[in-house]
Amino acid sequence: MTEIDLRSATAALMDDLGVDRARWNDGDLPVRTPLTGETIADVTTTTGADLDRIVTDAGSAFRTWATSPAPARGELVRAFGQRLRDHREALADLVTLEAGKIASESLGEVQEMIDMCDLAVGLSRQIGGLTLPSERPGHRLMETWHPLGPVGVITAFNFPVAVWAWNAALALVCGDPVVWKPSEKTPLTALACEALLTRTAEAQGVDLPLHVVVGDRDLGIAMAEHDGLPLVSATGSSRMGADLGPRVAKRFGRSLLELGGNNAATVMPSADLELTRRAVLFAAVGTAGQRCTTLRRLIVHEDIADELVEGIVKAYAGLSIGNPWRNNHVLVGPLIDQHGFDGMQAALERAEASGEVLTGGSRVDLGLPDAYYVEPAVVGMPSQTELVCEETFAPILYVLRCSDLDDAIDLNNGVPQGLSSAIFTHDLREAEQFMGALGSDCGIVNVNTGPSGAEIGGAFGGNKATGGGREAGSDAWKAYMRRATNTINLSDELPLAQGVEFS
Ligand code: NAD
Repeated sequence: MTEIDLRSATAALMDDLGVDRARWNDGDLPVRTPLTGETIADVTTTTGADLDRIVTDAGSAFRTWATSPAPARGELVRAFGQRLRDHREALADLVTLEAGKIASESLGEVQEMIDMCDLAVGLSRQIGGLTLPSERPGHRLMETWHPLGPVGVITAFNFPVAVWAWNAALALVCGDPVVWKPSEKTPLTALACEALLTRTAEAQGVDLPLHVVVGDRDLGIAMAEHDGLPLVSATGSSRMGADLGPRVAKRFGRSLLELGGNNAATVMPSADLELTRRAVLFAAVGTAGQRCTTLRRLIVHEDIADELVEGIVKAYAGLSIGNPWRNNHVLVGPLIDQHGFDGMQAALERAEASGEVLTGGSRVDLGLPDAYYVEPAVVGMPSQTELVCEETFAPILYVLRCSDLDDAIDLNNGVPQGLSSAIFTHDLREAEQFMGALGSDCGIVNVNTGPSGAEIGGAFGGNKATGGGREAGSDAWKAYMRRATNTINLSDELPLAQGVEFS
């Protein structure tokens, strides 16, 4: 594939998706494809003044959007979901071009947006509050939920659209317009989603409740500090969250943080080792190790460690690594950029000081000097060192041995992050202990399936340095609304709560 081909392929997709060329063809921010490292578009960035205007517009849109019936808001999301279905392949191609994912994962990411739209449409007819018993005669006590205002959404490069949809589909049915800043590395699919939603809104005569803004960290900081955004939902590294959270809190805004993970799988002697091996492979090398839920630590019981690790190393040797563009045989695509590659190499160098690289770690030469393809690595570590406690956003799997389940849980919980975890066992009591009060401290705790690849029906998110936010299904919608507790006196008396007399 030559430079002209991928730039032209991008242009054809953007035109097909109806994105205004002024947004991406001749701007000040080059977008590189990790497939080859070449520039495939030049997007126009958003200035601080633009952001102010956009947030003001979103505030105006809020006044009508918040007062339209929730099922009517759901109708916009339903129609948008249909447009996503109609453009599924084109959007997936764009995900592959700008994030480097293999076709099946790119299609899965678009499917996740569609699933979120379906979930939100149902929710639009179910948002409800509690009615509670009042202690006072002739009184009603109840909760009502109301739209919050324009919501700022900041997303990471590795899920350029799905994570936005977790937020936006809910925010839109909850009555909140959305101002979305995608990663500066992956703005193209965001512009495409905005174009599709614009057309959907126009067809319904709706004042557009979505604006995409393009920029780097500084624009994210401007959003964090913007009084016009009562909620900022931010996905990215723990470093980003540690900076953004206090900025939002300082103005008494609300933040929803989805940050880094350092996910472990514990394998006990009763586990089905063949199933475990397959689960480990997808969780550790899928998306080239660039998922927040990627398996980074394998905690394996000493009795089965040699057998399992041998099987995993053998499976790594058979991985097809390469350029996934129009090639469905490839399982491992590129790292996002040189920064990702350098981070992986630095971690491997440090690992060698105390551990042993069992396989992988080298750059795969495809004759593309600006693209970074690597062999996923497996590294045996004698203990959970400082390095193992960090999230290196690349395919490195550290193997640690444990003597029993208590030991494994200590290791599982002994890192700053708390996103996803798994146990492989056929012992019911071990599974219960792992899922129980003193078990895994993560937001996602799985049994006999890997830590990566969550469904949207559950609430997604993690604890500790992962930020504490919850998105997607279950009751995650509550983050996008404000709750009012209402007491209504239907009687002719004025009894006070707790029996207080004041006369
Ligand atoms: P990143 O932190 O570099 O950037 C993420 C986003 O935040 C980008 O849009 C960036 O411009 C913006 N940003 C960076 N610093 C900021 C600041 N101080 N204030 C406001 N905005 C700021 O992350 P990345 O490299 O794009 O993505 C990888 C990271 O994201 C990994 O740590 C991964 O685990 C995490 N992630 C977490 C989840 C989750 O749901 N928990 C999902 C995907 C990715």
